Amino acid sequence: MNNRKFFNPNYGVFCCNHVFKQKREVLVVIRDDDWQFLCGEDDDDECHLICVEHLLARDPSLNTMAELNNQTGAMRIHMNADWEYFELEPCRG
Ligand SMILES: [Zn+2]
Repeated sequence: MNNRKFFNPNYGVFCCNHVFKQKREVLVVIRDDDWQFLCGEDDDDECHLICVEHLLARDPSLNTMAELNNQTGAMRIHMNADWEYFELEPCRG
């Protein structure tokens, strides 16, 4: 049986300004209730809400991020590297 999950194309996700403007590739994905697709650099904290299909059209490998559990994330060192998965630190705010 195939349990793979896929994003609804119209699903809204957050991305950083660099990814939004297609200046950088997505290297960090975080699922913290919402999905965030980030370049991994903190030099601009502006973020945008977009339909995930735009990101998937540029990089179909991001489809695998639909399988992230809540409070986990994945990162890769460059566009063609393997994803490494991690758990988010609980927020003690
Ligand atoms: Zn960025």
